[in-house]
Amino acid sequence: MFGAKSFNTDDSRDPRLFERLARKIAASMTRPWTIMEVCGDQTQVLLEYNLFEILPPELTIAHGPGCPVASVPVQIFDRAINIAQDPGVIFCASAELLRIPGSVCDLLEVKACGADVRVVYSALDCINVARSNADKKVVFFNVGFETTMQNDALAVWQARRLGIANFFLLSYHAQIPTVCSKILSNQENVVNALLGPGQVASLTGFDEYEQLAQKQNVPVVITGFEPVDILEGIQKCVSMLEAGKVGVENQYKRGASRAGNPEARALINEVFEPCDRDWRGIGTVTNGGYRLKKAFENHDALKVFAPIICHPSEETGCISHLIWRGLARPTDCPAFGKSCKPDSPLGATMVSAEGTCAAYYKHRKETL
Ligand code: SF4
Repeated sequence: MFGAKSFNTDDSRDPRLFERLARKIAASMTRPWTIMEVCGDQTQVLLEYNLFEILPPELTIAHGPGCPVASVPVQIFDRAINIAQDPGVIFCASAELLRIPGSVCDLLEVKACGADVRVVYSALDCINVARSNADKKVVFFNVGFETTMQNDALAVWQARRLGIANFFLLSYHAQIPTVCSKILSNQENVVNALLGPGQVASLTGFDEYEQLAQKQNVPVVITGFEPVDILEGIQKCVSMLEAGKVGVENQYKRGASRAGNPEARALINEVFEPCDRDWRGIGTVTNGGYRLKKAFENHDALKVFAPIICHPSEETGCISHLIWRGLARPTDCPAFGKSCKPDSPLGATMVSAEGTCAAYYKHRKETL
């Protein structure tokens, strides 16, 4: 058993409701199933509210690729470090990205050695930095899913409109349904259904999830982030599995709709286009990410800065790539809580706030 959790008593966090839903899930199951939660925030909630404890033992919850930094190849962090070391560059990123290890060091160490590395909250902040530092190249580094692309797209679009030629984007954005499709088509796959990320789907809509469901012959339930959301999402998945139904259902009706956010999608589609992307542990995913379109390539750091020869090895013993494919848990990793902790991470899933290993460490370290 893990530590007891005190709960709010509003409906969405009422433990009596959790237990009722868990009993419904158990009563509807005629065989074991494995359901993957795609989003890192959902992983956090499952652990924070000890939902594993009340779910039936025949139901396995696998953790998915919801931590974007975990999937980014180490070469991208090496590239970021290389650009940040350029004395003509002001390099900007979130505090979290500064701590992700490259092959040799991380961006915080580069900053400590004197490089102008700054923490910012969004690409739009960098537009002002670029305007105030016309003699420098200002680079914003970001990785994420469609939800984080919106601000990046707007910043690049504004930079072109305002003629801010010294602003550059170094981005490695992932297209989640494509990556999920690759995970499900792998011969090692154990996952029968997906809890889709409600936040991402509220922007993208459901079309790509519908294609994923049909292609991989699985149920997908777009799900929110409260404990009750997650239990209802699981309940819908189980009932679709038991009925042999394939397709997309929406648990997160208060936040997501089939159409998504057309204005945000139009902006993203104006600035970015799909491209093949390398993912840690599974190799190249066709259309697994996005790059800037040709019209915006003057702001593309990957094109403007010369490539470097990257260190090919990622051999740290880190099994993040198995964790976010649902094939292992952090507690299966010999380094978990020993040589790998949030203040000394060996892999990205221990650094990122959305990372599965960091979530397990936060909520289950007392069991180590
Ligand atoms: S505990 Fe550390 S080394 Fe192990 S999988 Fe997680 S991030 Fe990687």
